[in-house]
Amino acid sequence: IAELSELYKIFKQGQNEVMALKNINLKIYPGELVVIMGPSGSGKTTLLHVIAGITRPSAGNVTVNDLKVEKLKDEGIQDLLQNHIGMIFQFFNLIPTLTATGNVEMPMIVSKMPKIQRKERVQYLLKEVGMIERANHRPFALSGGEKQRIAIAQAFANNPELILADEPTGNVDSISAEKIMQYFKKALVDNPEKAMIIVTHDIVFRKIADRTLILRDGEIIKEYGRFSQDELDTQKNAKISDQIGE
Ligand code: ATP
Repeated sequence: IAELSELYKIFKQGQNEVMALKNINLKIYPGELVVIMGPSGSGKTTLLHVIAGITRPSAGNVTVNDLKVEKLKDEGIQDLLQNHIGMIFQFFNLIPTLTATGNVEMPMIVSKMPKIQRKERVQYLLKEVGMIERANHRPFALSGGEKQRIAIAQAFANNPELILADEPTGNVDSISAEKIMQYFKKALVDNPEKAMIIVTHDIVFRKIADRTLILRDGEIIKEYGRFSQDELDTQKNAKISDQIGE
């Protein structure tokens, strides 16, 4: 679904240069849930932004669904974000004047989906994230976890192949985090042709990650496969945290 090769990103700040990404090589396959962890400033958000075309790489290539992202013009990036990538941010990007329904429907209106189809899909998505009872609430009347679930439904609106999530459980309590994690897992089971890249510090995601990548100073310094149940035991969890460097 996505391929990054020899990817670099350098930010210039006056006289200073920050190498936010350094020789990243990565392939994301259908059905995969890839978790990215690493200390603050290690380049996690920059990596998601480069994949989404929001930030241009300084060197290297990004391909999403055969689209060469670094070469896309503005309309191409819009199409990428509208139809191929669903993004979920820590600071929910919901429109405050629209209800939950309106927010989930918005991307489908932009992509000119017929109304009947739209209404059906909004119902389906709200049901999936357990928010059907809150369909007519505006964001101010929703809790952090509920807003995040609406943001997730919105990201899935146009059925994108790739989901990018930046700290999706960063602002929610642990029960909501568990629900959000379960939803991501179910979405992949139901749609094995999709893939997800999740930046998180939250250990709940280790339970479902096919791969965990550790970034440090812009480089992938370690890669773990699926953790076994045994490794996820509290005792050994500490050891994993140690290795991850958090
Ligand atoms: P956090 O966990 O704190 O969100 P992160 O791992 O997501 O951190 P990034 O936000 O990707 O890290 O930042 C990587 C590096 O690039 C940091 O040193 C940051 O200061 C720098 N950086 C990010 N965006 C810009 C920008 N627009 N201009 C200049 N420097 C930037």
